[in-house]
Amino acid sequence: MERIATVERIFNFSAGPAVLPTEVLQQARDEMLNWHDSNMSVMEMSHRGKEFMSIAKKVEADFRELVGIPGSYKVLFLSGGASSQFSMVPMNLLRKKKGADYINTGMWSKKAIKEAQRYCNVNIAASSEDTNFTYAPTQDKWKLDPNAAYVHYTPNETVGGVEFNWTPNLGNNVPLVADMSSSILSRPLDITQFGLVYAGAQKNMGPAGLTIVIVHEELLGAAIPGTPSMFDYKIHADNASMYNTPPAFAMYVTGLVFEWLKKKGGLVEMEKINIAKANLLYDLFNTTDFYHCPVTNSDRSRMNVPFTLKNTALNGEFLKQAEDCGMFQLKGHRSVGGMRASIYNAMPIEGVVTLVEFMKKFASIHA
Ligand SMILES: *Cc1c(COP(=O)(O)O)cnc(C)c1O
Repeated sequence: MERIATVERIFNFSAGPAVLPTEVLQQARDEMLNWHDSNMSVMEMSHRGKEFMSIAKKVEADFRELVGIPGSYKVLFLSGGASSQFSMVPMNLLRKKKGADYINTGMWSKKAIKEAQRYCNVNIAASSEDTNFTYAPTQDKWKLDPNAAYVHYTPNETVGGVEFNWTPNLGNNVPLVADMSSSILSRPLDITQFGLVYAGAQKNMGPAGLTIVIVHEELLGAAIPGTPSMFDYKIHADNASMYNTPPAFAMYVTGLVFEWLKKKGGLVEMEKINIAKANLLYDLFNTTDFYHCPVTNSDRSRMNVPFTLKNTALNGEFLKQAEDCGMFQLKGHRSVGGMRASIYNAMPIEGVVTLVEFMKKFASIHA
Protein backbone atom coordinates (compact mmCIF):
# COMPACT_ATOMS: atom_id res chain seq x y z
CA MET A 1 0.00 0.00 0.00
CA GLU A 2 2.86 2.37 0.72
CA ARG A 3 4.00 4.74 -1.96
CA ILE A 4 7.54 4.21 -3.06
CA ALA A 5 9.69 7.22 -2.31
CA THR A 6 11.89 6.93 -5.38
CA VAL A 7 9.03 6.38 -7.83
CA GLU A 8 6.35 8.97 -8.47
CA ARG A 9 3.11 7.12 -9.00
CA ILE A 10 -0.21 8.73 -9.80
CA PHE A 11 -3.49 7.40 -8.48
CA ASN A 12 -4.80 5.85 -11.69
CA PHE A 13 -8.58 5.38 -11.77
CA SER A 14 -8.62 4.10 -15.36
CA ALA A 15 -11.25 1.49 -16.27
CA GLY A 16 -8.67 -0.46 -18.26
CA PRO A 17 -5.90 -1.04 -18.93
CA ALA A 18 -5.69 -0.21 -15.28
CA VAL A 19 -3.41 0.23 -12.30
CA LEU A 20 -1.09 -2.64 -11.41
CA PRO A 21 0.50 -3.20 -7.98
CA THR A 22 3.70 -1.16 -7.69
CA GLU A 23 5.48 -4.18 -6.17
CA VAL A 24 4.62 -6.24 -9.27
CA LEU A 25 5.97 -3.60 -11.65
CA GLN A 26 9.15 -3.35 -9.60
CA GLN A 27 9.67 -7.09 -9.68
CA ALA A 28 9.07 -7.18 -13.45
CA ARG A 29 11.61 -4.35 -13.76
CA ASP A 30 14.18 -6.18 -11.63
CA GLU A 31 13.75 -9.35 -13.70
CA MET A 32 13.49 -7.56 -17.05
CA LEU A 33 16.92 -8.34 -18.48
CA ASN A 34 17.69 -11.52 -16.61
CA TRP A 35 14.85 -13.71 -15.41
CA HIS A 36 16.00 -16.07 -12.64
CA ASP A 37 19.60 -16.35 -13.88
CA SER A 38 18.48 -17.31 -17.38
CA ASN A 39 20.24 -14.22 -18.78
CA MET A 40 17.14 -13.66 -20.86
CA SER A 41 14.09 -11.46 -20.62
CA VAL A 42 10.77 -13.32 -20.40
CA MET A 43 9.95 -11.51 -23.64
CA GLU A 44 12.80 -13.33 -25.38
CA MET A 45 12.03 -16.87 -24.27
CA SER A 46 10.68 -19.70 -26.37
CA HIS A 47 7.20 -20.41 -25.09
CA ARG A 48 8.08 -24.11 -25.26
CA GLY A 49 11.41 -23.77 -23.43
CA LYS A 50 11.79 -25.02 -19.87
CA GLU A 51 11.97 -21.49 -18.42
CA PHE A 52 8.68 -20.27 -19.83
CA MET A 53 7.01 -23.64 -19.29
CA SER A 54 7.82 -23.30 -15.58
CA ILE A 55 6.32 -19.79 -15.57
CA ALA A 56 3.16 -20.95 -17.36
CA LYS A 57 2.74 -23.88 -15.01
CA LYS A 58 3.00 -21.66 -11.94
CA VAL A 59 0.60 -19.06 -13.37
CA GLU A 60 -2.05 -21.72 -13.83
CA ALA A 61 -1.39 -23.39 -10.46
CA ASP A 62 -1.59 -20.08 -8.59
CA PHE A 63 -4.77 -19.07 -10.42
CA ARG A 64 -6.36 -22.44 -9.64
CA GLU A 65 -5.35 -22.08 -5.99
CA LEU A 66 -6.62 -18.49 -5.67
CA VAL A 67 -10.03 -19.25 -7.14
CA GLY A 68 -10.27 -22.89 -6.03
CA ILE A 69 -10.79 -24.51 -9.42
CA PRO A 70 -11.42 -28.27 -9.49
CA GLY A 71 -9.76 -30.54 -12.06
CA SER A 72 -13.00 -30.88 -14.04
CA TYR A 73 -12.45 -27.32 -15.30
CA LYS A 74 -9.86 -26.31 -17.87
CA VAL A 75 -8.08 -22.96 -17.57
CA LEU A 76 -7.10 -21.44 -20.91
CA PHE A 77 -4.69 -18.55 -21.49
CA LEU A 78 -5.72 -16.94 -24.76
CA SER A 79 -5.25 -13.77 -26.73
CA GLY A 80 -7.89 -11.85 -28.63
CA GLY A 81 -9.42 -10.03 -25.68
CA ALA A 82 -12.71 -10.65 -23.94
CA SER A 83 -14.30 -9.44 -27.17
CA SER A 84 -13.22 -12.64 -28.96
CA GLN A 85 -15.10 -14.59 -26.31
CA PHE A 86 -18.31 -12.91 -27.47
CA SER A 87 -17.94 -15.15 -30.57
CA MET A 88 -16.15 -18.14 -29.06
CA VAL A 89 -18.87 -18.74 -26.49
CA PRO A 90 -21.67 -19.33 -29.02
CA MET A 91 -19.36 -21.13 -31.46
CA ASN A 92 -18.41 -23.67 -28.80
CA LEU A 93 -21.38 -23.85 -26.46
CA LEU A 94 -24.43 -24.01 -28.73
CA ARG A 95 -24.02 -27.81 -29.06
CA LYS A 96 -26.66 -28.17 -31.80
CA LYS A 97 -29.15 -25.95 -29.96
CA LYS A 98 -30.64 -23.00 -31.76
CA GLY A 99 -30.66 -20.31 -29.12
CA ALA A 100 -29.14 -18.87 -25.98
CA ASP A 101 -30.36 -16.61 -23.18
CA TYR A 102 -28.64 -13.28 -22.56
CA ILE A 103 -29.14 -10.79 -19.74
CA ASN A 104 -28.71 -7.24 -20.99
CA THR A 105 -27.33 -4.95 -18.29
CA GLY A 106 -25.12 -2.56 -20.20
CA MET A 107 -22.65 -1.82 -22.93
CA TRP A 108 -20.65 -5.03 -22.61
CA SER A 109 -23.76 -7.23 -22.47
CA LYS A 110 -24.96 -5.54 -25.65
CA LYS A 111 -21.71 -6.25 -27.45
CA ALA A 112 -21.85 -9.90 -26.41
CA ILE A 113 -25.45 -10.11 -27.63
CA LYS A 114 -24.66 -8.53 -30.97
CA GLU A 115 -21.92 -11.06 -31.65
CA ALA A 116 -23.99 -14.06 -30.49
CA GLN A 117 -26.76 -13.05 -32.89
CA ARG A 118 -24.48 -14.07 -35.75
CA TYR A 119 -24.68 -17.67 -34.58
CA CYS A 120 -28.02 -18.23 -32.89
CA ASN A 121 -31.34 -16.85 -31.75
CA VAL A 122 -30.64 -14.66 -28.78
CA ASN A 123 -33.39 -14.47 -26.20
CA ILE A 124 -32.99 -11.33 -24.09
CA ALA A 125 -34.25 -12.95 -20.91
CA ALA A 126 -33.98 -9.72 -18.93
CA SER A 127 -32.80 -6.18 -19.54
CA SER A 128 -32.26 -2.96 -17.64
CA GLU A 129 -32.08 -0.85 -20.78
CA ASP A 130 -35.35 0.85 -19.74
CA THR A 131 -33.37 3.00 -17.26
CA ASN A 132 -30.17 3.25 -19.34
CA PHE A 133 -28.73 0.40 -17.26
CA THR A 134 -28.89 1.45 -13.63
CA TYR A 135 -29.78 -1.89 -12.03
CA ALA A 136 -29.41 -5.67 -12.25
CA PRO A 137 -32.75 -7.39 -12.97
CA THR A 138 -33.58 -9.89 -10.20
CA GLN A 139 -33.86 -13.49 -11.26
CA ASP A 140 -37.65 -13.66 -10.72
CA LYS A 141 -37.94 -11.21 -13.65
CA TRP A 142 -35.90 -13.37 -16.04
CA LYS A 143 -37.85 -15.01 -18.88
CA LEU A 144 -35.56 -17.91 -19.67
CA ASP A 145 -35.99 -20.11 -22.74
CA PRO A 146 -36.16 -23.75 -21.58
CA ASN A 147 -34.31 -24.80 -24.75
CA ALA A 148 -31.45 -22.33 -24.42
CA ALA A 149 -27.95 -23.74 -24.83
CA TYR A 150 -26.62 -21.48 -22.08
CA VAL A 151 -27.34 -18.31 -20.13
CA HIS A 152 -24.87 -15.42 -20.51
CA TYR A 153 -24.58 -12.44 -18.20
CA THR A 154 -22.09 -9.75 -17.21
CA PRO A 155 -21.62 -9.82 -13.42
CA ASN A 156 -19.98 -6.39 -13.44
CA GLU A 157 -20.76 -3.83 -16.11
CA THR A 158 -17.60 -1.76 -16.34
CA VAL A 159 -19.22 1.27 -17.98
CA GLY A 160 -22.47 1.55 -16.02
CA GLY A 161 -21.03 0.42 -12.69
CA VAL A 162 -23.78 -2.17 -12.19
CA GLU A 163 -22.77 -5.35 -10.37
CA PHE A 164 -24.70 -8.49 -9.53
CA ASN A 165 -24.08 -9.07 -5.85
CA TRP A 166 -25.58 -12.55 -6.23
CA THR A 167 -25.00 -15.49 -8.54
CA PRO A 168 -27.91 -16.67 -10.66
CA ASN A 169 -29.11 -20.16 -9.74
CA LEU A 170 -30.34 -21.93 -12.86
CA GLY A 171 -31.14 -25.12 -10.97
CA ASN A 172 -30.80 -27.31 -14.05
CA ASN A 173 -28.24 -28.37 -16.58
CA VAL A 174 -28.12 -25.14 -18.56
CA PRO A 175 -24.57 -23.77 -18.27
CA LEU A 176 -24.19 -20.32 -16.78
CA VAL A 177 -21.65 -18.19 -18.69
CA ALA A 178 -20.17 -15.00 -17.25
CA ASP A 179 -18.04 -12.17 -18.63
CA MET A 180 -16.03 -11.34 -15.50
CA SER A 181 -13.54 -9.03 -17.20
CA SER A 182 -13.85 -6.26 -14.63
CA SER A 183 -14.64 -8.20 -11.46
CA ILE A 184 -12.70 -11.48 -11.51
CA LEU A 185 -10.55 -11.98 -8.39
CA SER A 186 -12.29 -9.07 -6.61
CA ARG A 187 -14.18 -11.51 -4.39
CA PRO A 188 -14.39 -15.28 -3.85
CA LEU A 189 -15.78 -17.19 -6.83
CA ASP A 190 -17.54 -20.56 -6.66
CA ILE A 191 -16.72 -21.79 -10.14
CA THR A 192 -18.97 -24.85 -9.78
CA GLN A 193 -21.95 -22.55 -10.29
CA PHE A 194 -20.70 -21.78 -13.80
CA GLY A 195 -20.18 -23.62 -17.05
CA LEU A 196 -17.75 -21.02 -18.34
CA VAL A 197 -16.19 -17.80 -17.07
CA TYR A 198 -14.01 -15.50 -19.14
CA ALA A 199 -12.11 -12.32 -18.39
CA GLY A 200 -9.69 -10.02 -20.16
CA ALA A 201 -6.66 -9.48 -17.92
CA GLN A 202 -6.27 -5.72 -18.26
CA LYS A 203 -8.85 -4.65 -15.68
CA ASN A 204 -8.22 -6.65 -12.56
CA MET A 205 -5.41 -9.12 -13.32
CA GLY A 206 -2.53 -7.89 -15.45
CA PRO A 207 -1.50 -6.29 -18.73
CA ALA A 208 -3.63 -6.23 -21.87
CA GLY A 209 -3.20 -9.07 -24.33
CA LEU A 210 -4.23 -12.00 -22.13
CA THR A 211 -7.72 -13.41 -21.70
CA ILE A 212 -8.40 -16.22 -19.23
CA VAL A 213 -11.19 -18.75 -19.81
CA ILE A 214 -12.33 -21.23 -17.17
CA VAL A 215 -14.52 -23.89 -18.78
CA HIS A 216 -16.03 -27.16 -17.62
CA GLU A 217 -14.47 -30.01 -19.58
CA GLU A 218 -17.90 -31.41 -20.52
CA LEU A 219 -18.51 -28.34 -22.68
CA LEU A 220 -15.48 -28.97 -24.88
CA GLY A 221 -15.40 -30.68 -28.25
CA ALA A 222 -18.67 -29.56 -29.81
CA ALA A 223 -17.69 -26.43 -31.73
CA ILE A 224 -19.93 -25.63 -34.71
CA PRO A 225 -18.63 -26.86 -38.09
CA GLY A 226 -16.26 -24.36 -39.65
CA THR A 227 -14.96 -23.03 -36.34
CA PRO A 228 -11.36 -21.88 -36.87
CA SER A 229 -8.85 -23.81 -34.77
CA MET A 230 -7.94 -20.65 -32.89
CA PHE A 231 -11.59 -20.29 -31.82
CA ASP A 232 -12.03 -23.87 -30.62
CA TYR A 233 -11.64 -24.23 -26.84
CA LYS A 234 -10.88 -27.95 -27.16
CA ILE A 235 -7.85 -27.31 -29.33
CA HIS A 236 -6.48 -24.82 -26.80
CA ALA A 237 -7.27 -27.17 -23.90
CA ASP A 238 -5.65 -30.20 -25.58
CA ASN A 239 -2.52 -28.12 -26.17
CA ALA A 240 -2.36 -26.57 -22.68
CA SER A 241 -2.84 -23.10 -24.24
CA MET A 242 0.28 -23.65 -26.40
CA TYR A 243 -1.45 -24.43 -29.70
CA ASN A 244 0.07 -21.16 -30.85
CA THR A 245 2.28 -18.64 -29.07
CA PRO A 246 0.39 -17.50 -25.98
CA PRO A 247 0.65 -13.88 -24.74
CA ALA A 248 3.75 -14.88 -22.81
CA PHE A 249 4.84 -11.61 -21.18
CA ALA A 250 1.29 -10.76 -20.15
CA MET A 251 0.99 -14.21 -18.59
CA TYR A 252 4.21 -13.67 -16.66
CA VAL A 253 3.15 -10.28 -15.23
CA THR A 254 -0.30 -11.66 -14.44
CA GLY A 255 1.46 -14.47 -12.58
CA LEU A 256 3.28 -11.87 -10.47
CA VAL A 257 -0.11 -10.33 -9.67
CA PHE A 258 -1.36 -13.77 -8.55
CA GLU A 259 1.63 -14.10 -6.21
CA TRP A 260 0.87 -10.61 -4.88
CA LEU A 261 -2.78 -11.60 -4.29
CA LYS A 262 -1.73 -14.73 -2.43
CA LYS A 263 0.55 -12.67 -0.20
CA LYS A 264 -2.34 -10.29 0.50
CA GLY A 265 -4.43 -13.18 1.80
CA GLY A 266 -6.27 -14.23 -1.35
CA LEU A 267 -9.79 -13.43 -2.49
CA VAL A 268 -11.42 -13.40 0.96
CA GLU A 269 -9.08 -10.62 2.08
CA MET A 270 -9.38 -8.79 -1.25
CA GLU A 271 -13.15 -8.76 -0.91
CA LYS A 272 -12.92 -7.14 2.53
CA ILE A 273 -10.61 -4.42 1.21
CA ASN A 274 -12.78 -3.90 -1.87
CA ILE A 275 -15.92 -3.48 0.24
CA ALA A 276 -14.12 -0.94 2.44
CA LYS A 277 -12.86 0.98 -0.59
CA ALA A 278 -16.24 1.06 -2.35
CA ASN A 279 -18.07 2.08 0.84
CA LEU A 280 -15.83 5.13 1.22
CA LEU A 281 -17.25 6.48 -2.05
CA TYR A 282 -20.83 5.25 -1.75
CA ASP A 283 -21.14 6.58 1.82
CA LEU A 284 -20.20 10.01 0.50
CA PHE A 285 -23.05 9.95 -2.03
CA ASN A 286 -25.47 9.29 0.84
CA THR A 287 -24.40 12.43 2.68
CA THR A 288 -24.46 15.00 -0.13
CA ASP A 289 -26.49 15.83 -3.20
CA PHE A 290 -23.52 17.60 -4.77
CA TYR A 291 -22.63 14.18 -6.24
CA HIS A 292 -25.03 11.60 -7.56
CA CYS A 293 -24.58 7.91 -8.35
CA PRO A 294 -27.19 6.74 -10.87
CA VAL A 295 -27.02 3.05 -9.87
CA THR A 296 -29.60 1.39 -7.58
CA ASN A 297 -28.12 0.94 -4.09
CA SER A 298 -28.15 -2.87 -4.07
CA ASP A 299 -26.45 -3.16 -7.47
CA ARG A 300 -23.59 -0.70 -7.07
CA SER A 301 -20.27 -2.01 -8.35
CA ARG A 302 -17.30 -2.44 -6.04
CA MET A 303 -14.97 -2.01 -9.02
CA ASN A 304 -16.34 0.83 -11.16
CA VAL A 305 -18.04 3.75 -9.41
CA PRO A 306 -19.84 6.16 -11.74
CA PHE A 307 -21.04 9.50 -10.40
CA THR A 308 -22.20 12.82 -11.76
CA LEU A 309 -21.88 16.34 -10.43
CA LYS A 310 -25.17 18.13 -9.84
CA ASN A 311 -23.68 21.14 -11.58
CA THR A 312 -22.27 19.61 -14.77
CA ALA A 313 -20.63 22.94 -15.61
CA LEU A 314 -18.05 22.01 -12.96
CA ASN A 315 -16.99 18.74 -14.66
CA GLY A 316 -13.91 20.21 -16.32
CA GLU A 317 -12.80 21.99 -13.16
CA PHE A 318 -13.28 18.79 -11.13
CA LEU A 319 -11.09 16.76 -13.49
CA LYS A 320 -8.41 19.43 -13.68
CA GLN A 321 -8.14 19.86 -9.91
CA ALA A 322 -8.16 16.08 -9.41
CA GLU A 323 -5.18 15.81 -11.75
CA ASP A 324 -3.41 18.58 -9.85
CA CYS A 325 -3.80 16.36 -6.78
CA GLY A 326 -2.38 13.29 -8.55
CA MET A 327 -5.67 11.55 -9.48
CA PHE A 328 -6.08 10.64 -13.14
CA GLN A 329 -8.53 9.00 -15.56
CA LEU A 330 -11.67 9.97 -13.65
CA LYS A 331 -13.67 11.09 -16.68
CA GLY A 332 -16.81 9.00 -17.06
CA HIS A 333 -17.82 7.06 -20.14
CA ARG A 334 -19.72 9.23 -22.61
CA SER A 335 -22.85 7.05 -22.31
CA VAL A 336 -23.16 7.82 -18.59
CA GLY A 337 -21.43 11.20 -18.40
CA GLY A 338 -19.81 12.70 -15.32
CA MET A 339 -17.07 10.70 -13.62
CA ARG A 340 -16.09 7.11 -13.06
CA ALA A 341 -13.62 5.91 -10.46
CA SER A 342 -12.37 2.41 -11.22
CA ILE A 343 -11.01 0.97 -7.99
CA TYR A 344 -9.71 -2.47 -8.88
CA ASN A 345 -7.69 -4.73 -6.55
CA ALA A 346 -4.47 -2.84 -7.28
CA MET A 347 -5.88 0.58 -6.30
CA PRO A 348 -4.58 1.16 -2.78
CA ILE A 349 -7.15 2.26 -0.22
CA GLU A 350 -5.17 5.48 0.24
CA GLY A 351 -6.04 6.33 -3.37
CA VAL A 352 -9.74 6.13 -2.55
CA VAL A 353 -9.26 8.03 0.72
CA THR A 354 -7.45 10.76 -1.20
CA LEU A 355 -10.26 10.92 -3.78
CA VAL A 356 -13.00 11.12 -1.16
CA GLU A 357 -11.18 13.87 0.76
CA PHE A 358 -10.72 15.77 -2.49
CA MET A 359 -14.40 15.35 -3.40
CA LYS A 360 -15.54 16.63 0.00
CA LYS A 361 -13.31 19.67 -0.29
CA PHE A 362 -14.37 20.35 -3.87
CA ALA A 363 -18.03 20.15 -2.86
CA SER A 364 -17.57 22.50 0.08
CA ILE A 365 -15.82 25.10 -2.09
CA HIS A 366 -18.38 24.92 -4.90
CA ALA A 367 -21.58 24.32 -2.93
C1 LIG B 1 -13.13 -4.33 -21.10
C2 LIG B 1 -14.24 -5.30 -21.17
C3 LIG B 1 -14.44 -6.13 -22.30
C4 LIG B 1 -13.59 -6.03 -23.53
O1 LIG B 1 -12.32 -6.48 -23.33
P1 LIG B 1 -11.24 -6.52 -24.55
O2 LIG B 1 -10.13 -7.26 -23.89
O3 LIG B 1 -10.94 -5.12 -24.90
O4 LIG B 1 -11.85 -7.26 -25.67
C5 LIG B 1 -15.48 -7.04 -22.26
N1 LIG B 1 -16.28 -7.14 -21.20
C6 LIG B 1 -16.14 -6.37 -20.09
C7 LIG B 1 -17.07 -6.54 -18.94
C8 LIG B 1 -15.11 -5.43 -20.05
O5 LIG B 1 -14.96 -4.66 -18.96
